[in-house]
Amino acid sequence: MSLGVLGLRVDVDTHEGMRDGVPRLLEVLEEEGVKATFYFAMGPDRSGLAVLNALRPGFLKKMTRTSAARVYGLRTVLSGTLLPSRPIGVAFPRIACRARDEGHETGVHAWDHRQWQDRLFRFPPEKTAAELDKGFRAYEQIFREPPRTYAAPAWLSNDDALLHEETYNLAYASDCRGTEPFLPIVRGQTLKTPQVPATLPTLDEALGDTFQDAPAYFAAMVDEAARASWPVFTLHAEMEGGPYEDDFRVFLRRARAAGLRCVPLGELLAERLRQGRLPASPLHYEPVRGRHGVLSTQGVAA
Ligand SMILES: [Zn+2]
Repeated sequence: MSLGVLGLRVDVDTHEGMRDGVPRLLEVLEEEGVKATFYFAMGPDRSGLAVLNALRPGFLKKMTRTSAARVYGLRTVLSGTLLPSRPIGVAFPRIACRARDEGHETGVHAWDHRQWQDRLFRFPPEKTAAELDKGFRAYEQIFREPPRTYAAPAWLSNDDALLHEETYNLAYASDCRGTEPFLPIVRGQTLKTPQVPATLPTLDEALGDTFQDAPAYFAAMVDEAARASWPVFTLHAEMEGGPYEDDFRVFLRRARAAGLRCVPLGELLAERLRQGRLPASPLHYEPVRGRHGVLSTQGVAA
């Protein structure tokens, strides 16, 4: 049952998404009177490595579905492979600060998004900690204050990452898919940093697969959000701040018409905490339709 809030989370994964998508989204959100949580990848844009992954089963199908070159631009698709990688957040400190100054919540998404999602399972614990530290330090340099929130790249986390996040005094993190805010259980211990999971499928997962076109997808997401208690919708600066800007605007208007108030994830969590204590759950790995490999997901409450 809907409690009238819808968490909005903007992932910024590429140099061009940071440069072009974020300013466009800031305009749309301003015009629609909505605040969101922005998660910035900070370091190198190696999204072109995706091209190398094309040999993996299913990936080519996904590239065709979302026509990656059209959405992301050829420069991005080649970034970090044939062409040198360009930095993301650290290249555009003014755009990052503009999001905060306009009243949005801001947080860290990654240092090296691509490396994290491709190699996390092979990182020794020190490497996982070092990657988090690099992203957090870059954030502090840009914003002159520590981040209050973090979102693991590609919704992929592990015990080492969750335990290291505990050292940062975050208000919360958004590292997985799930159904409602919760406290993660790691190695039998309940952590103090709440998780605010993304609950709805993303546009790139759905396009051409579960939905034929963007309008059908966005309409269904409003309906799904209206049926859930703590819905969190993830958009991408490269997509909803790019070719799907108009569809996203319609989504925001429909959400409002359905009685949903779009809020940053921190506000959704605050609303949830007013209802009582959070459940504690372990994190699992599961495949999610439209995504390669597995994602971290909220397990059944202990
Ligand atoms: Zn991302």
